[in-house]
Amino acid sequence: MKKQKLAILGSTGSIGTQALDIVRQHSDKFEIVALTANSNWELLAEQVKEFSPSYTLIGNEGHFETLKNTINHTEVISGSDKLPEIASLEEVDTVLNALVGFAGFESTVAAIRAGKKVALANKESLVVGGALITEELKKSKTELIPVDSEHSAMLQCLVGESMSNIEKIIITASGGPFREFSLKQMEEVTVAEALNHPNWNMGAKITIDSSTMMNKGLEIIEAYWLFDIPVEKIEPVIHPQSIIHSMITFIDGSSKAQLGLPDMKVPIIYALGYPERLPLETARIDWNKIQNLTFEPVDFKRFPCVKLAMDSIKLGGYAPAVLNAANEVAVERFLNKEIGYIYIAEVVEKSLAKIESSDSLNIETLKEIDKETRTYAASILK
Ligand code: NDP
Ligand code: MG
Repeated sequence: MKKQKLAILGSTGSIGTQALDIVRQHSDKFEIVALTANSNWELLAEQVKEFSPSYTLIGNEGHFETLKNTINHTEVISGSDKLPEIASLEEVDTVLNALVGFAGFESTVAAIRAGKKVALANKESLVVGGALITEELKKSKTELIPVDSEHSAMLQCLVGESMSNIEKIIITASGGPFREFSLKQMEEVTVAEALNHPNWNMGAKITIDSSTMMNKGLEIIEAYWLFDIPVEKIEPVIHPQSIIHSMITFIDGSSKAQLGLPDMKVPIIYALGYPERLPLETARIDWNKIQNLTFEPVDFKRFPCVKLAMDSIKLGGYAPAVLNAANEVAVERFLNKEIGYIYIAEVVEKSLAKIESSDSLNIETLKEIDKETRTYAASILK
């Protein structure tokens, strides 16, 4: 494999730091050209000292001067609006988009337009602008490889298969910390409880999304765009042990699954190395210790966000972008203790019912819809 020049967007986050661990293990295969963070300038500065990128971006402009005075031999750039420029830098081969939320969308589009290979952790990009991204991918010669563990599993199951032979995709979900909670118990859920995921250690936003299972809803939309398959053929199933990361059933009744311990480094290295596999020093499944692999259906009554997301893709147009923006605001409001846990779904549902647009889909109109939805979602249930 030729040495890949990487830009890691969101290098201080959960995915970003794990990606840098991989780069540490494979310094002969990867070189860091650009690193970015929003506010955590201290960690970003440490990363710059270790990986010597040519470009360093800090989103929060208030930290620009301090950062600039702390690091040398790198061009320091300020402002999140410059992220798409980092994503399209001439020197870069591969962009790992590990930003969180709508903030990652434009960089995904910019990277594809500039012909970069995109390793995509930022699932919100596809949720918001799947149609646009698919169009851009058709026009370019580049590839977009999912980092999300379920989609990495799907991709790994599909190697050597013809897409027309897929009967169904079974997307697994841990069910999160409230899998066995009644609706009544969910009314009392605190921020600390929701931030405590049983299997995965992740950033705050996706951890809350996992607890409401909006994460699974977003991932169904992500799979819809990645594999061009009707939502009806994507079936969510609860698998509390998070060992099977997803499955594909083919037209002859045979199913393939991808298994592994819950460890994001595996899908990250698969995306970075794709189509090759690279060795990874990480824990393996001990088959003598695994007791059970169990499955149960998703209860849409207790986890309405999954259904809202599936409905939004059927509505089409801007609906998934509205769903995403409303969810981002609702999660933020819950984390700020402004709304109770069960109202996250309500903010999303009300926003979907309220916000409509007949404009054609493009970056600018998507940004407008995102903004409009945020204003509305922040104003309701006061
Ligand atoms: P984190 O919150 O841990 O990290 C987000 C990163 O993006 C940080 O580097 C943060 O900087 C930066 N960032 C956040 N907002 C902005 C902004 N407005 N402008 C510029 N930079 C910004 O998130 P995760 O790593 O958990 O998740 C990243 C993406 O990957 C999400 O889309 C998530 O859904 C997806 N994903 C994550 C998984 C995981 O295990 N964590 C698993 C599967 C998917 P700073 O540190 O300075 O705030
Ligand atoms: Mg996932």
